[in-house]
Amino acid sequence: MFQLGAGLGLVAGLIAIVGLVAVLTGRVGPKPMTLGYSELLVSLQAGQVDSVQVSPGREIRGWFTDARAGAASKRFRVVYSTEDVDPLLGAAAAAGVGISFEPEPADYEAVFATVVSVTFLLLMGLLLRRQFASASVDTEAGETSGAVLSFEDVAGNTGALSDLREIVAFLQEPERFAAMGARIPKGILMEGPPGTGKTLMARALAGEAGVPCFTASGSDFTGIFVGQGVARLKALFRKARKAGGAVIFIDEIDTLGGRRGRAHGHAEDDRTLNQFLVELDGFDPSVGVVVVGATNRACDLDPALLRKGRFDRSVTIGLPTVSEREQILALHIRDRRVPLAADVDLTRLARLMTGASGAELAGLINEAAIMAVRAGSSEVTWAHVEEARDRVLLGRAREGLTVCETERRLVAVHEAGHALAGVVFCPADPLHKVTIQPRGGAMGVAFFQPDHETHIASRQYLEGQILKGLGGRAAEEIVYGTGKITSGAGSDLQHTTRVAKQMVYRLGMGASTGLITYDPDSGPVSSETHSRMDQDVRLILESSYTTVLGCLRAHRAALEALADALMIEETLSGEDAIRIMEEAGLARELAAAG
Ligand code: ADP
Repeated sequence: MFQLGAGLGLVAGLIAIVGLVAVLTGRVGPKPMTLGYSELLVSLQAGQVDSVQVSPGREIRGWFTDARAGAASKRFRVVYSTEDVDPLLGAAAAAGVGISFEPEPADYEAVFATVVSVTFLLLMGLLLRRQFASASVDTEAGETSGAVLSFEDVAGNTGALSDLREIVAFLQEPERFAAMGARIPKGILMEGPPGTGKTLMARALAGEAGVPCFTASGSDFTGIFVGQGVARLKALFRKARKAGGAVIFIDEIDTLGGRRGRAHGHAEDDRTLNQFLVELDGFDPSVGVVVVGATNRACDLDPALLRKGRFDRSVTIGLPTVSEREQILALHIRDRRVPLAADVDLTRLARLMTGASGAELAGLINEAAIMAVRAGSSEVTWAHVEEARDRVLLGRAREGLTVCETERRLVAVHEAGHALAGVVFCPADPLHKVTIQPRGGAMGVAFFQPDHETHIASRQYLEGQILKGLGGRAAEEIVYGTGKITSGAGSDLQHTTRVAKQMVYRLGMGASTGLITYDPDSGPVSSETHSRMDQDVRLILESSYTTVLGCLRAHRAALEALADALMIEETLSGEDAIRIMEEAGLARELAAAG
């Protein structure tokens, strides 16, 4: 609406201005009559000329008197270039006609064009300013509205919380600290992946201290018009100081605080960062303002930002551990008063959500509650939680998608291959579920649920991950033949290549390159080493593939039995899948030993 209105306003404004300019430059009314020079002299002598204006070397223009009857226009114009003006002067003097000279040759066309373009640019500028101003109302750091939060609203993140607890007292009584000469932290840097509760904690800090929280994103201050970033920063800090104390939360602070003087950096963004440093340094310590900056790339920050007295505290926030996941789930269930059925085991659910952030866990509870409402249930059951989990991790079930039987069978064989290889080679990750229900971008999936959180991966574990990942392709090859392998293994191969590269490039597990690692920061490796590393990666993948092919061939009956069961059931629990494979002759211990 605004854009349309502004557009119409612009057009109307332009028409008005063009009209005004036309009037001022005498461009309305009939066109001036064009005369020859001698004709003009004759008209002068005949007393038909009222006034004359000479633009030397260019043209003469003027007005006829009323005596010049029959003229199409009262104005005339004589184009001349070389004529001597003396005869004109003489004739004008004789006729008593005023004559004026323009000091410089005036190019009316050019003047007209210039006036119009300047006006246009001014109007555009005004329009953009208005649009920008209206956009900045949305993006400008504003005081966060919504419920006042406390540390009770944050589960886990204990390290970060204990740092924040210390700040609360300062925010509440900054003068006491200042009077004691205590140096107060001005900035706290929170480094961690998205959704791990950084914003939540900044808001909780403000809530605990009873001060407002202003939130902004680093990108609100960069990549905009010259001077706007600096102006916005000043306004933000002014607001915070005016509030008598505040928490300023700046998300993606690396956008604002990236290293200055980069080859492709913008001088304007450097200026904005300088202003930020000035604001940080300029705090009056007796006004409690604390800046919390969030990033997941602290290494990109300008070192000046991390100096003492600026962001001199830094907290790393990782993805929640299994027990933290359980606490986060419990907190959201409590806060939203979600009625849980007795069959919902939060410990198990937390284990099933390896790698999930706090935000994803909050989303999971929300999805589960929505499922329960849709199903007309009075409480959230394990089935709702399971469905919600699949949705959060894989996307919605693609109910409208029709898959022909041949493709379903192919997916069943592929997933059975993953399941079997995983059961045999990854004993630490029990099979949780196998399904050929298309969901999100996947046509099927075999889920494994790690028994406990691992922080250190052994070579055997990494090799197991590769074997499990190659199980799908190997199953296709065994059942359908080499010529009929499919695109279904695309993302599996990306994953297995990534793991193999990690083993060789970073972990010193390459067969021929051994302990040499590839670290661009400590200088490149020779091209020969590089190509040997690539060969090592290939070797890991190829020998793993041979191993998994051998295993699946040896247990082909179990593989096909699981695929058949999937064709009928579509989704099988881990226990059922294992039972089916064991009934078809899979002896896990035996296979694992082999
Ligand atoms: P970030 O700023 O790190 O990207 P947010 O603070 O915006 O993450 O987290 C988004 C949402 O996820 C929060 O509003 C909250 O509902 C949930 N959440 C994330 N971490 C936690 C946590 N540790 N405890 C409770 N809820 C959390």
